[in-house]
Amino acid sequence: MEYKELAEVYEALENTTKGLEKTKILAAFLDKIRSEPQVIYLLQGRIFADFDSRDLGISHQLVIRAISRACGVEDKEVVKYFKEKGELGKVAEKLIKEKKTQTALFSKKLKVSMVISNLRKISEIEGQGSVDLKVGLVVDLLHSGTPKEAKYIIRTVLGDLKVGVGNGILRDAIVEIVFAPKDLEEKKKYSVKVQEAYDKSTDFAEVFSKALSKTLESIKLTPGKPVKVMLFPKAKNVEDAFRIVGRPAAFEYKYDGFRVMINKNRFGSIKIFTRRLEEVTKQFPEIIDYVQENVKGETFILDSEAVGFDSKTGEYTDFQAVSQRIRRKHGIEVMMKTLPIEVAVFDIIYLDGKSLINTSFRERRKILEKIITPRDKKIVLAKQIITGDAKVVEKFYAEALADGQEGLMGKNLEAPYKPGARIGHAVKLKPEDKDFDLVITGAEWGTGKRTGWLTSFDVSCRGDSGELLDVGKVSTGLKELEGADLSYNEITKRLKKLEISEEGRKIKVRPKIVITVQYQDIQKSVNYSSGYALRFPRIIRLREDRSVEDIATVSEIRDEIGI
Ligand code: AMP
Repeated sequence: MEYKELAEVYEALENTTKGLEKTKILAAFLDKIRSEPQVIYLLQGRIFADFDSRDLGISHQLVIRAISRACGVEDKEVVKYFKEKGELGKVAEKLIKEKKTQTALFSKKLKVSMVISNLRKISEIEGQGSVDLKVGLVVDLLHSGTPKEAKYIIRTVLGDLKVGVGNGILRDAIVEIVFAPKDLEEKKKYSVKVQEAYDKSTDFAEVFSKALSKTLESIKLTPGKPVKVMLFPKAKNVEDAFRIVGRPAAFEYKYDGFRVMINKNRFGSIKIFTRRLEEVTKQFPEIIDYVQENVKGETFILDSEAVGFDSKTGEYTDFQAVSQRIRRKHGIEVMMKTLPIEVAVFDIIYLDGKSLINTSFRERRKILEKIITPRDKKIVLAKQIITGDAKVVEKFYAEALADGQEGLMGKNLEAPYKPGARIGHAVKLKPEDKDFDLVITGAEWGTGKRTGWLTSFDVSCRGDSGELLDVGKVSTGLKELEGADLSYNEITKRLKKLEISEEGRKIKVRPKIVITVQYQDIQKSVNYSSGYALRFPRIIRLREDRSVEDIATVSEIRDEIGI
């Protein structure tokens, strides 16, 4: 297929904000790529499946270099237009247009397969001379593309396609083109089927091709490949928890760490993934040891929380303390000592060749108790009671809080495990907390003694169809201390890598960094696209383990003020 066709679809998608129209455009395009399902990755603005965390490692600076080389102009000129247009895709479009009219250059038609192959090569290049090679591969693509194609190539390289294709829309388009549902009921039925297949495989190309061959059921959990984790709604209080999960129910400590899915495949290799499907095996060698020594089973997938504790006192520490371990790839031995963790296993969804997602939670817990030998401060089973008595739960709740944990989880004993779904098979119970996980979409440079740091951040939640909506700015909560995880310095370094445009003292960034923002109040506001503003917001956590898909939705914000 020619890349031109894809560029036209991107353009059509960009020209509408309506979810239904986007679905239609996508469905018509999917019809053309029945035999090339991998093109779906490009539609998502990616080059690999969602479960594959390889990335291109191309900064802004390198893209500027590639554009200047491809167009025979100086970097300075690219930077000048960048300031004017605010986005490098449009700069590439303009400069390629000028160059092509000047030289009447004939280019061969750019194929989608070449785009995929060049971009994949980029993700594999490492070591000396890699920068030049990477730039060269982008230049090649720019040489072969039309101005419009150049715009989308650059956006893909920068990981910011701006066409608004979320997972929900893609799922609906697959349903539309493959199953052509007759009515709403059929549509719902097939959406659930496609979504379930996606949550197990986290690969839309696979889901599409299996849907086409009517073999969606053949998509199975595969240890070693990450799945979407089950999510949990909030309960207001203990009675509310019973109402949602039934009585009696299981109640467990809600550990204040980060979620890890521990996979052991049939070759005995153990892999660890976060809930955003990122592999963190190298960062946690001790988990491998704990699992190898204390968990029986040829193959399995465990759902668990990694919790930090103080190596001297043994007391649990909060998430922020250990969160730096998720990212660090060096000095791991030292970190293992200074920031030790305990794994609290709370679920199992696969054992010895068999999926357990349709097995009841009661049974799954029994299996966990059989295969795990608990070792204090290494690997344990989530602390649990089973009761129908609210008083007993209240007592357990107080114990969890006194033990430094966040609260309790209440779990339906008969429920299956639903990857990816936020349904009431289990609920969380936490003391009244006024905070939301939000994503940073922009920032502003500081002044005075904070010159050189980004010090104010635009934050967004998700709209009903997955779009980002801003809910305010936050500028308190960070430390000036260098080296601290929540420091201006650290956040500035990270945001700079994600920059997509700048205007005066402000920059816009790709929505990748998720933070927990505490607030005192929520107000209706016409200044922000969500329609709400957080009053007295304060950053309390950097959520390494979360992605933009995990942030608060506008309905949750609405619920909070009871509108
Ligand atoms: P929240 O992060 O507030 O949405 O709460 C849900 C998270 O609590 C899950 O994603 C897990 O990371 C964590 N968690 C801690 N302890 C448990 C437990 N016993 N069962 C399930 N989730 C738990």
